Amino acid sequence: MHWYSLIAFLLLATPLFAQENAATQKLTEQSKQFDEQVIQVAENVYTAVGFSVSNVSMIVGDDGVIIIDTGMMVGDANRIMAEFRKLTDKPVKAIIFTHSHGDHTGGSAAFIGNERPQIWAHKNYGSEAEPLVAGGVTFQRVRGARQAGFKLPPEQRINNGIAPVRYPRRGGQAFASGDATRPTHFLEDERTTIKVAGVELELVSSPGETNDQLFVWDPTGKVLFAGDNFYRSFPNLYAIRGTPNRSVRLWAESLDKLADNDAAALVGGHTRPILGASKVKQVLKDYHDAVQFIHDKTVEGMNKGMTPDELVEYVQLPENLASKDYLQPFYGHPEWGVRSVFNGYLGWFDGNPTNLFRLSPKSEAERVAKLAGGTDKLLASAHDALAADDNQWAAQLADHLLAIEPGNPTAMQIKADALTRLARNMVNATARNYYLSVARELREKTQ
Ligand SMILES: [Zn+2]
Repeated sequence: MHWYSLIAFLLLATPLFAQENAATQKLTEQSKQFDEQVIQVAENVYTAVGFSVSNVSMIVGDDGVIIIDTGMMVGDANRIMAEFRKLTDKPVKAIIFTHSHGDHTGGSAAFIGNERPQIWAHKNYGSEAEPLVAGGVTFQRVRGARQAGFKLPPEQRINNGIAPVRYPRRGGQAFASGDATRPTHFLEDERTTIKVAGVELELVSSPGETNDQLFVWDPTGKVLFAGDNFYRSFPNLYAIRGTPNRSVRLWAESLDKLADNDAAALVGGHTRPILGASKVKQVLKDYHDAVQFIHDKTVEGMNKGMTPDELVEYVQLPENLASKDYLQPFYGHPEWGVRSVFNGYLGWFDGNPTNLFRLSPKSEAERVAKLAGGTDKLLASAHDALAADDNQWAAQLADHLLAIEPGNPTAMQIKADALTRLARNMVNATARNYYLSVARELREKTQ
């Protein structure tokens, strides 16, 4: 390398790495949310943070304990149970699932002893999990693995935004299933009060992240167990792995219901609990306001005729919310929430008739290449974009090239490089994992 190209490289590279550090440092800092610890959140209430993907809580009653959520894998759950056993040897009388996602239910076998506990869940439990399609919508699993970074080497994964890095075991007991861990009792109505081991708890229907979400209110300890309607990150109003539409309106409503309780502790489905009545109040208000804002402002823009691409620029979270540490886009992202609100009300058509029957990607790309003066010019532009650190544009140009010639190794390489650079500056863990996973897939294809 000549000295002048070295200087050019350094000039080009320095701001890139500086930015890279800002995003990755912020995301790395978030990993403190999953330092392994059993936290006492009230006199008889403990939450195990960081041992598994989700939080697992224990309420100690007169003659038994109640477990809220069970973590993702039995191995992690066994370690949690061992920690809980240091605090009490009372039997597990009940398990409550805040919702049906595997990271909250998979560890159940670790908490079921000889005496079979009651297992409580929402009446909609699991109804969104398996779409009623022969064979299932299997591509969701491919996208899910990309979002979680399951195929990335450990050094490329920082965390999952709201959870520590885990790799599900193939074939093994990743998710417990079978009769022993299926719910036995259901929340049929808006709310119900249960009494287990002398402890009175209120279960409240709270659709949001899923339609089978419930929250648990412990009036004695003044603890709220919010499930995944709350964690310390901007909420995942849309998951990029692809999920049924999450009602942003109902999510905001459920946050209102959470805030109605006079709580001194707020235990989210992930990340460390919020402790202290005034702090809980503030956090729930901000969280609600952020979700409500995304909903209301998007509807306002929709009613002006804006398309999703325009709405993501129009809807900007106010600074007093955007600056909060528990609303940083580590897991969910405001832009994806905006698109999800639009999609939930109006579906895929953005309202612009040009888009009713678009040119195929190949037809469009061929015309763009012609305009540019040929595919070679397009390729040169993609290289230039990459050199200028204009990575989104480089990826879009590479997509045109790949539409014309799907197996073009140079185009795949450009796209892989562009995605890798986008990942470096990305504070959102799911987008980061997705970029890096697809970059890896592309590089494997070129080898
Ligand atoms: Zn979760």
